[in-house]
Amino acid sequence: MTETIVKPAGAATAVVATQKPLLKVDKLAKRFSVRGGILRREVEQVHAVDGVSFEIAPGETLGLVGESGCGKSTTGRCILRLIEPTSGTVSFEGRDVTRLDRYVEKSLCRDMQIIFQDPFASLNPRMTVAAIIGEALKIHGLAKSKAARDARVVDLLETVGLKADHLRRYPHEFSGGQRQRQRIGIARALAVEPKLIICDEPVSALDVSIQAQVINLLEDLQEKFNLTYLFIAHDLSVVEHISNRVAVMYLGRVVEIAEASQLYANPRHPYTEALLSAVPIPDPKVKRQRIVLKGDVPNPLNPPKGCHFHTRCPIRKDPICSTERPELKPDANGHWVACHLR
Ligand code: SF4
Repeated sequence: MTETIVKPAGAATAVVATQKPLLKVDKLAKRFSVRGGILRREVEQVHAVDGVSFEIAPGETLGLVGESGCGKSTTGRCILRLIEPTSGTVSFEGRDVTRLDRYVEKSLCRDMQIIFQDPFASLNPRMTVAAIIGEALKIHGLAKSKAARDARVVDLLETVGLKADHLRRYPHEFSGGQRQRQRIGIARALAVEPKLIICDEPVSALDVSIQAQVINLLEDLQEKFNLTYLFIAHDLSVVEHISNRVAVMYLGRVVEIAEASQLYANPRHPYTEALLSAVPIPDPKVKRQRIVLKGDVPNPLNPPKGCHFHTRCPIRKDPICSTERPELKPDANGHWVACHLR
């Protein structure tokens, strides 16, 4: 059964630049070592995230898009410190989380949660739903007894559209497959009453027909609990529906950030233009010219100098594009782009 995506009133029109950010990411970088030889010495580095900066206001959804391997999931994991960033800062409610000790970090785990892409892989098949969702309640001391924990888990199950009798089931016993299991993942994230949820490709593993149901659920929960989302995806049409603003990443860098409506109507970076030209328009009368980029995404072990996109850019101008890194700069409408020519 297909479901239409319903956008909450005003969701796409919120301008957040004037609000104090809940999350501020500043020049975040992550490099992974590539080791070789008998001594396993570092021989090269992969620049997975290369100086990423953005802010998210309370109650906002920032969509983070880009091709596979562009560093968007690594960015999400660095924010939560599931992966330690190499440099840069991540501030949550004004506190730099990259420098917190583990004890204080535990309290931040409550505030920041993640929903993973693959609901089956992210749920322990040996644990019942009660144990999966109740684990966080136990760790954070949010339920005094088993009965209180079970009651809270039932409450969470009903919040995400599951039933009380699902409590003792194992993830593989859900007849609704991926969709039901993703609901368990969402309930687990909600258990500790977070303020920010990093949704890491939460619908990419789902059939198209059920993606909208999960998106609608996330939107309803956002309204109900005043949640803030960083919504990571490679599907631009999904991101458009749920995001207030959208950031586009290419090879570890953010190349454009704007309000969703602005970015989709008037993309400024040539890479965003190419991505959007591939998104189907649900109106047979409207034709869009497809921009096909030449070549593959460069190897992140050896990214191109200057603008990372210059090897594929249809409007590049040398020598500036191949020698100087373009910085993200805003126009008068708060539409940020990193391009020497735009
Ligand atoms: Fe293209 Fe140059 Fe702009 Fe990069 S800086 S996107 S290469 S025009």
